[in-house]
Amino acid sequence: MKIAYLGLGLMGQAMAVNLAKAGLEVVGWNRTPGKPGEAALMAAGGKVENSIEAAVKDAAVVFTCLGDIGDVEQVLTGKGGVVDFAMAGVVIADFSTIGPEAAKRIYDALRAKSMHFLDAPVTGGDVGARNGTLTIMVGGDEEPFRKALFALEKMGKNIKHCGPSGSGQALKLCNQILCAVNMISVCEAFRLAEQLGVDENLLVDVLSGGAGGSWALSNLGPRIIKKDFEPGFALKHMLKDLRLVFENIDGQDDLLPGTKLAQDLFKIVGEGDGSDSGGADGARGTQAMRLAYK
Ligand code: NAP
Repeated sequence: MKIAYLGLGLMGQAMAVNLAKAGLEVVGWNRTPGKPGEAALMAAGGKVENSIEAAVKDAAVVFTCLGDIGDVEQVLTGKGGVVDFAMAGVVIADFSTIGPEAAKRIYDALRAKSMHFLDAPVTGGDVGARNGTLTIMVGGDEEPFRKALFALEKMGKNIKHCGPSGSGQALKLCNQILCAVNMISVCEAFRLAEQLGVDENLLVDVLSGGAGGSWALSNLGPRIIKKDFEPGFALKHMLKDLRLVFENIDGQDDLLPGTKLAQDLFKIVGEGDGSDSGGADGARGTQAMRLAYK
């Protein structure tokens, strides 16, 4: 059974590699040829095609991990997209974070062509993608979910069918609030440690196992200590996700004041032109919020 994987970025390449390592037939495609994800997939036993058409032709399952709403719509339902070349009955699952409204729109457009769409956003970071331990939150019809499960299980450990189309994305936006607001507490703990002369290593080593511990403290705390602001999870994606949160509640910003604060702090470090940091600021990881503190 052929599986197509479109979008071999940080997350996509690690997930596609895990499918190939599990012995499944995986054919990848990336918009920009020659990126490291292509070589990684081929080294794991997968194949790479240079067009969406070639990748999805005869595929029973198509996975995508892309960027924002416009990217996913372009690749799935746009002209020259998956909808033009995949076979009827195909199960398409998208791991990008795009919010419930967009997911439902794509579901409707694909259903009109007898194709099944699952919104399947993930959490667990680049570490979880590499280790095959992602949490995958799936919205859509149950039958295609059951059909795709054998492959989802090669990429994640905690896989949950959450309800109808859009419900995976709705849960994922709740998750983004947990990640974003938690990052404030991690950065403020580091800031206070600096102020009080506390060894930063103690902050991570001792507090990770306590009541204030979190995924961010355990996994991103060590990167903050090393001043390693490479993504993991890029600021531009976090800013996209917080924009999606407010778009999906019709701009009622005052419902979520902590999320608004996190958005403002991420904007300070994520929206520059990179002239101070030697690269695009939005390309840094979310742990770069630490740089928003004086
Ligand atoms: P990334 O490293 O920036 O990779 C994005 C991938 O999407 C690249 O392969 C890129 O192709 C492709 N792409 C973007 N726009 C496209 C378009 N219009 N047409 C075709 N291909 C397009 O991003 P990532 O970190 O893997 O994240 C991907 C998605 O997963 C995002 O929605 C993000 O919010 C979500 N996510 C990420 C994490 C994380 O920890 N990184 C965790 C959970 C969820 P090119 O190489 O041509 O640019």
